[in-house]
Amino acid sequence: MSTPFVVPRCTNCGHLAYPPRILCPVCGHGTWGRALADTGVVEEVTVRRPVFKRRQLPWGNWLDQEETVLAAVRTDAGPRIVCRVAPGTRAGDRVTLAARGSTAIALPGQVVEAEPQSPSNAGPAQGS
Ligand SMILES: [Zn+2]
Repeated sequence: MSTPFVVPRCTNCGHLAYPPRILCPVCGHGTWGRALADTGVVEEVTVRRPVFKRRQLPWGNWLDQEETVLAAVRTDAGPRIVCRVAPGTRAGDRVTLAARGSTAIALPGQVVEAEPQSPSNAGPAQGS
């Protein structure tokens, strides 16, 4: 189950801050709305390989460890998000960001349609 990825947006100046902050680093206000940041372009990809292929858990079972592919995604809204991507993703690919719990994952391709009624898309988009 995943939902579109949103980032905090300052209600005073429109600055997008990710990761979330208590006070806006631009204007100092402390009230935040949300802005949709669910599409972007992969800038960098890195692969984290486990030292051992298998790891024994404290209760005796063995856990197969797989490599994790991470990417820095520059969202169309502005902020740069580091998230997991599917193996085979390359720099320059367009992805759709989805929130899964408290983390972000990037799905290949752009499949989410824009929501014209969303007030979160209004206002200036600034980098992080
Ligand atoms: Zn602000």
